[in-house]
This record gives sequence, C-alpha cells and structure tokens, in this order.
Amino acid sequence: MEQSLLEDLLTLSHEIGREDRGLALLGEGNTSVRLGPETFLVKASGTNLGTLKPEGVVECRLEALLPLLEKERLSDEEMDEALMAARVDGQAKKPSVEAVFHAWLLSVPGMRFVGHSHATAVNQILCSPRAHDFAERRMFPDEIVCCGVASVLVPYTDPGLKLAQTIRRQTEAFMQKHQHPPRVILMQNHGIITLGSTWRAVLAAMLMAEKAARIFVGAANLGGPVFFSKENVARIAGRPDEAYRQRELKI
Ligand SMILES: [Zn+2]
Repeated sequence: MEQSLLEDLLTLSHEIGREDRGLALLGEGNTSVRLGPETFLVKASGTNLGTLKPEGVVECRLEALLPLLEKERLSDEEMDEALMAARVDGQAKKPSVEAVFHAWLLSVPGMRFVGHSHATAVNQILCSPRAHDFAERRMFPDEIVCCGVASVLVPYTDPGLKLAQTIRRQTEAFMQKHQHPPRVILMQNHGIITLGSTWRAVLAAMLMAEKAARIFVGAANLGGPVFFSKENVARIAGRPDEAYRQRELKI
C-alpha cells in the first residue's frame, strides 16, 4: 500500500513538473499524499518535481505539524526546527516549508493527495485584478467537472505559517458555504493548490485550471469572458452523465 502511494506521488509530481506544461520550474511547487491516520509523504525542500525520486520525499507526522496552526507567530528558525522534528526518519531531508498547509489539507475528510504549482496562465490572472472572477465564476462545462463550481481564493500571504493559517480559514469558509471541500485553491501572486481522493483528480484539476486560465486570458482580450449563469453552473454540477464521466476518469 505504502509503496504504491509513493509511486502514485512520484507519478503526480513528474506530471506536474513536466517543463512543457509551464506549471513548475526548478524547485517550484510540491506534492503530498496521506499514508494513514498519522503520517503523510511530502516533497523535500530544494528538490525538483519533474525529476523527483524516492529520496526527495519525506514522511512527516501530522500531529507534529497541525498544532503549529494554533500558534500566534513562529520565527523562521522555529519553523525550521518544527519541520525537522516532524520527520519520521531523522536522516531524511528537510520537508518543504509548505508542508504545514499540506498537513492541514490532507486532514480534510476524503482528501488523499495534494498538488501545488506556480502555473503560468493561472498566475497571469492571480497577479492581475481579475483573480476574484476566475475563482468565483465558471466559463465551460469541463471546468466545473474538474475544478468544481468555484475555487477558494487566498489573498497574498507570507509563505509558511501565516499562509497555512489563511488557507485553513478560507477553505473552512468555502466548505461552510458549499457543504463540500474545494478541488482548487488559488493564492494571489503565488499559485494554485489542487486536492482530491486520487492523484488523477489532483492532476485533472490542475491541468483544467491552467487551460481555463488560458481561455480566460484570451476571452478577456476579446472583451470577455462571458461567464455561465448560476443556473448553468448548478445544472452541469448536478448532471448524472457528468458524475458518470468523473467516475470513469477517476477524477
Ligand atoms: Zn508555492
């Protein structure tokens, strides 16, 4: 089980790290998978998603990272110490500083995999004044099938503890409103997180969000985009043939 989850995590990482996709270059982005009730695997700091190997992945304990979210503040040194102390194997590399938000998102019921990248087209919008529209509106059916009826939007926040806390607050508000977890979290002036029960769902949401962003930017150049009405969004989200397609594609 653990071996196949590691293989799935490496596959997801290699797919997100493919240079031709423009999602993550060099050390950008990270991925994680929950192994069981107590631990998860996350990409180590300073490794490359496109060429990630088993030794570039660290197993961390959830109970060592989740309590950090209750802290008022943490110095960079304290954060480094907490990350090192969360490792199951003391010889393993240092986990990514973004491991704290991975830990929290992997604790959301039903979520097993998380992916994060600095996708080019998505960031064109997240570095513009139109980020709200991209998060809250939808333009075409497959965007709804893969990315959900709306995305969480997180204002720019200092990476590390503050960012993890802001992601938690915004995601909890989303779940309160929609009564289900999000597929996509958008961070202004930073990038995208996708989450799901399978690595395919995480990749599908990331690739479709990047495609939607390209369409958004192109449509904006032509005076748009023309968005779906609330009724159209609800209709697509509730169609049994779309649910069937999701099951068949394992997304
Ligand atoms: Zn990032």
